[in-house]
Amino acid sequence: MALVRTAEIIAVGTEMLTPHRIDTNSLFLTGQLNELGIEVRAKAIVRDDRAELATILRGALARVDLVITTGGLGPTADDVTKEAVAEVLGRPLDEDAAILAAIRARFDRRGVRMPEINRRQAQVPRGARVLPNPNGTAPGLLLDADDRLVVLLPGPPRELKPMFEAELRSWLEQRTGGRRVLRRAIKTTGRSESQVEEITHPIYSALGDEEVEITTTILATPGQIELNLSAAGADVDRLGRRLDEGVAALVAALGPCVFSTDGRTLEAVVGEALRRRGWRIGAAESCTGGTLLGRLTEVPGSSAWVVGGIVAYANDVKVAQLGVPRTLIDAHGAVSEPVARAMASGVIAALGVDVGVAITGVAGPAGGTAEKPVGTVVVALATSAGGDPLARTHAFPGDRDAIRRHATSAALEMVRQSLQQA
Ligand code: ATP
Ligand code: MG
Repeated sequence: MALVRTAEIIAVGTEMLTPHRIDTNSLFLTGQLNELGIEVRAKAIVRDDRAELATILRGALARVDLVITTGGLGPTADDVTKEAVAEVLGRPLDEDAAILAAIRARFDRRGVRMPEINRRQAQVPRGARVLPNPNGTAPGLLLDADDRLVVLLPGPPRELKPMFEAELRSWLEQRTGGRRVLRRAIKTTGRSESQVEEITHPIYSALGDEEVEITTTILATPGQIELNLSAAGADVDRLGRRLDEGVAALVAALGPCVFSTDGRTLEAVVGEALRRRGWRIGAAESCTGGTLLGRLTEVPGSSAWVVGGIVAYANDVKVAQLGVPRTLIDAHGAVSEPVARAMASGVIAALGVDVGVAITGVAGPAGGTAEKPVGTVVVALATSAGGDPLARTHAFPGDRDAIRRHATSAALEMVRQSLQQA
């Protein structure tokens, strides 16, 4: 029995080559295959064209152990996956009586006569194993061809996912040679990708041993740098130990910019810290327009610690709703530490919360000045215990979306750090 170590996924469908439909099946499949220790080497999206699909299939079969196609199993003339596979593997298509009966029965149950074109769905490349589809008419197919496996799955995710679970997972599990893959994610905020790389590269490049292969990737999004470790090998306990050691060394080197190693988001970590203290939070937002409150409330159960927010986009709202003195705005400008502090204190007074967090800044593309260029964002934090609110001025890179995302992350991080010290 041939071992399955590598795979390619081919999504078939012209609609996914438009901006209107995305291929989500391959994301699902990649996750599933990775968990089984099967590495996805390449993915393709190909239009409903038999010759082009055949070309891509030939290439994939020359490279990897397992090729999975999704889509193009329907009854219409543009569904050509089976024809292309039959051509490439040199197998004729036979009509499968059992499949035909199942499709007929499906139509009968709905009191509809089976359209003649659905007969096409009963055609099977010779030697294929049929994967039943309880959620649709097109069955999946599995072919073993010269130590290469080809699996054809239907396009609709609600048919593909249950079919993978019921028919493929355990079957593939027996063909991976006991190889397993475990993963960990270290999430950081407040440092750039190159800073994280500089600190961690000497450590992660030395992880792993002769029996455990560890790969590290860095995933950067505005306001967050994530270090993903995956360990592959046969001994699950050993993989777990190596990963734990690796994570511990990396976290020690990175210091307080690490906010989670268990998959939790920054807003979830902040929420948990607030809940533990029994503190409730409110937000005063100018340039982020409520998206900080949006992130805070993405966490299930957040009604226990989130009270609300005031979107103070216009200066008049900063004055009327948050009690920011107009003289302060005139003297320092709306994007300034004194105004951000007054906004943070103002939200405590307005909403009666324990923690008030405020954001004001220049998200661009217009509105920047030499003194306060686009990307200048001030975040501030006040607590009901009193004392001077904290304020910090940032210079964030990127476009409007990135700057706004950076801003909400910086505000959440300010809350997290101050809760750690409290
Ligand atoms: P059917 O019998 O429904 O025609 P099929 O196997 O021929 O099934 P397609 O016709 O290619 O599948 O796709 C049917 C629907 O499934 C598409 O309209 C799309 O919504 C969804 N779909 C197809 N491929 C994908 C994909 N790769 N990712 C997400 N959704 C997909
Ligand atoms: Mg189709």
